[in-house]
Amino acid sequence: MQTGSFRWMKSLNKSIILNKILNSGPISRAQIAKETNLTPPTVGSIVKELIDQDIVKESTLGTSQGGRKPTMLVINYQGFYVVGVDAGPSEIETILTDLSGKVIEHHMITIDEKVTSDSFLMMLETSIDIVLQSYWRKKDKIIGIGVAMHGVVDVDTGTSLYAPNLDLRNIPIQKSLEDRFDLMVKVENDARALALGEVWFGQGKDTESMVAVNIGNGVGAGVAINGKLYHGDSSIAGEIGHMTVDMHGKRCSCGNKGCLQTVISGPAIAERAVEEFDTVQQSILKTLHSITGLDVYQAALEGDGYAIRLLEETGEYIGIGLTNLIHLINPTKIIIGGGVSAAQSFILDPIIKTIKKRALTPQAKQTQVVISDLGDKATALGAVALLLAELFERNGEVII
Ligand SMILES: [Zn+2]
Repeated sequence: MQTGSFRWMKSLNKSIILNKILNSGPISRAQIAKETNLTPPTVGSIVKELIDQDIVKESTLGTSQGGRKPTMLVINYQGFYVVGVDAGPSEIETILTDLSGKVIEHHMITIDEKVTSDSFLMMLETSIDIVLQSYWRKKDKIIGIGVAMHGVVDVDTGTSLYAPNLDLRNIPIQKSLEDRFDLMVKVENDARALALGEVWFGQGKDTESMVAVNIGNGVGAGVAINGKLYHGDSSIAGEIGHMTVDMHGKRCSCGNKGCLQTVISGPAIAERAVEEFDTVQQSILKTLHSITGLDVYQAALEGDGYAIRLLEETGEYIGIGLTNLIHLINPTKIIIGGGVSAAQSFILDPIIKTIKKRALTPQAKQTQVVISDLGDKATALGAVALLLAELFERNGEVII
């Protein structure tokens, strides 16, 4: 369903020009005509429409090459709004941003323990209602709603096929939100939305191929090729948390043994800490009743040798997982986010050393590995990016 602001994207030439301004702005009308092979009158009339619709505005004057200085065109990032939702498993975080990803409104709600499909949808709607409260009168300026949903998502229908942590199936998120708000709605798996957020707002800009790996309570990844998400044949591309790294390893929540997730997720790090206690002489961790991944990190910060060694070993495991990823996809860049990435001062070196030791070629050994700088709203920003990707096209090719 294309409603509201999407109506203005109906023409192909309009989309070409809009994307040209997005990717090359500030840019003059003459330059657009030259670079798109459209005639100056066509460019002129479409630019006028885009300015009338408030999506493009005239900016500071450009450099003259003799004669009158041309007026430059830029995207009016402040002219429109997008809702982004990071949905679960334990909280629903909703933001309202402008087109540059600047957060204007924010709302957080904790998901009840005994949630049903209906009550989950109700929570989504309430949260969206709250961030839109003061903006509803500007409805024609709202591009739509993006939802980054944990678990398996059918992106074509915007349905959550399986949300394992909530034990819910077939939640019709897109349909229900479209009916309620009469706006464009896009739903995507959270790890993939996060990857798209890196493409639009983070360190994934202008990369030919990029993988964003989220390491938190679970482990997932999103693959973006030329700025577009890769889903695979049945939407499970990027499930690297369930890549086997030890066939005799620990049982994973998926039922298999020795998945990457069973050694590098936050809870897995805590579990490993306790399991090896017998071999440890001294550690702050031995004085605690229960241990989380965060405790291990804090102990490491206080100079606890055991905790530091655990995190370095975690870095080696992550490095092994990423080397497998490099051999399969050979990405330009790998971006690591999620709670465990906060321990970058302990894990990043071992990750890079492991890749250098194990990758096949000198070039592959040099694959860029960085820590995300999008912070705790990274997934919600990824949900915003789902809508921007519909509206614009970052790397040349036109969507509609
Ligand atoms: Zn698994």
